Amino acid sequence: MNDLFGDELARWKPIEKAFFDVFSDFGFAEIRTPTLEHLEVFVHTVGDTSDIVEKQMYTVKDQSEEVLVLRPEGTASFMRAIIQHQLFQLAGPQRFFYYLPMFRHERPQKGRLRQFHQFGAELIQDASPEADAELITLMDTLLRRVDLQQFRTRINSVGCAHCRPPYRTALTDYLNDHGKQLCDTCKQRMERAPLRVFDCKNETCRRITESAPKMLEHLCGDCKSHHDNLKTRLTQLKTPFEEDPLIVRGLDYYCRTAFETTSPDLGAQDALGGGGRYDNLSVQFARPSIPGVGFAIGMERVILALQTSGTSIASTSGPLVYLAALGKRAFDLLFPLSFELKRNQIRSEISHGFDKSLKNHLKRADRLGCAYTIVVGDNELANSTAIIKDMKSGMQDNVSFEDLAQLIKRKATRVPQT
Ligand code: AMP
Repeated sequence: MNDLFGDELARWKPIEKAFFDVFSDFGFAEIRTPTLEHLEVFVHTVGDTSDIVEKQMYTVKDQSEEVLVLRPEGTASFMRAIIQHQLFQLAGPQRFFYYLPMFRHERPQKGRLRQFHQFGAELIQDASPEADAELITLMDTLLRRVDLQQFRTRINSVGCAHCRPPYRTALTDYLNDHGKQLCDTCKQRMERAPLRVFDCKNETCRRITESAPKMLEHLCGDCKSHHDNLKTRLTQLKTPFEEDPLIVRGLDYYCRTAFETTSPDLGAQDALGGGGRYDNLSVQFARPSIPGVGFAIGMERVILALQTSGTSIASTSGPLVYLAALGKRAFDLLFPLSFELKRNQIRSEISHGFDKSLKNHLKRADRLGCAYTIVVGDNELANSTAIIKDMKSGMQDNVSFEDLAQLIKRKATRVPQT
């Protein structure tokens, strides 16, 4: 679990802003759910055999001995909220996004943390393949908006309640015949969640599963037509994708479409994001089916991929204008100016001590990456002027007090501020 501050956090800001903008462009409204949820929100919904439920949930017992969970993923909490507030009663499709910390007790490694942040999107009350195409295109747009290029999106269908059980039997039969060399984890999965053998990265397991029967060959008519329509729509929208029968995703609630985006810039933990359709998740909450499709993108992975690929991420968190007051009288003049600038959306900083030398002021302005420094000392006070120094070129101008605020506002608004 990381502390985030300074340059590291500054790298997050423009990405967060770009993502919020894209969600707004696509008409998705934000939802924030609590960090703690009841255990039942995740146990039967995400799946008893999923890694999340089996070994990764952080649980807390409260004063009344109730077991609560630190949210490990967004969709089950989202569905709990939708049902609780009866939002599914409103007519027509509804679009939501979230940006929240998630908690999973995993073995930490590069790109894998125990507290991480996900941007997620959910589109409910729409069972159409067009909704799936919209979400996959939204994920693609988010990643491209922050200049990620080198990613691949793979799609698959994991079938439905009609076609998955007979497929499961076919797969289990194949694994029983060929599974002696499978790793111990896969041997366990064979019994309880055979589809998850496709998730295994072990070479031998991969070789065996490559020739195993695939869900795509066993889809029922409705699932096949849904999948074919999705591919047609993605092609129409010019959203790049590949079909990959090995994408199964580890959670029980998925049906039909499953997708995942990976980046070669990430190393072993190469998933940037993933999602799928979950038409029967609400049934686990003892409600009628609320069809939906969603995905989540890992913020830490986005930052890592951008850093590794050398894509520059503009940092805009520092002040733009530094006010250097040499003495108390100069401070009395510049202190209100500093707030006038802030109120006009110009980031500024003023040092509260009066006895700093000019050299120290300039050093600090430089360290903060300010574009301009305003200097007022005894000479300037005597002439009712101030110096404006352009920190990049080193050029400086003398301007009268009267013109100072206007001039700095004009100069500073020419520098892009995000
Ligand atoms: P999931 O909910 O497991 O499908 O994950 C969706 C995305 O969240 C992944 O593609 C990753 O980008 C990110 N993610 C998942 N688990 C972690 C983790 N432990 N640390 C950092 N990012 C993660």
